[in-house]
Amino acid sequence: MSCHDIGRGMASVADVVVELYEENKIDKEAAMRLVYACRRGVHWCDGNESEAIETVADAGYCGLCFEKKDDLSSVYDNDLGYPQCYNVFKDFDADAAHFYLCPECKRRVIDEYKKKNNLS
Ligand SMILES: [Zn+2]
Repeated sequence: MSCHDIGRGMASVADVVVELYEENKIDKEAAMRLVYACRRGVHWCDGNESEAIETVADAGYCGLCFEKKDDLSSVYDNDLGYPQCYNVFKDFDADAAHFYLCPECKRRVIDEYKKKNNLS
C-alpha cells in the first residue's frame, strides 16, 4: 500500500517552488533542482513521484526544458514496449525536474534512446 500523504506533502512544497519561480525569486536551475528533490522526497516513505509533481506538470512546466508548454505527457507513455518504455529516461532523470515532457523534449529523449540502442 503506497503512501499518498508524502506525495501531497511534497506537492505542497513543489507548489511554492513554482510560485517563487513565477515571481522571479528563484532561477530555472533552482526551480528544477527543488522540484527534483520534491519528486525524490516521496521515497522517504512509499510515495508516488507523480503525486509530488502533479501540480507542476498541470501548470505546464516541462520536466526537461522547464518551459511552460501545452500537451505535456509522461515520457514513460511511449511506443517502445515493456520493459524498454521504462528505460528511456534513465540518462535524463538526474537532470530533469520530472518526467512529464513537452512534445519536443519527449521526442528528443525517445530518439536518443533509440539511437543509442540501435532501435529504429
Ligand atoms: Zn520541454
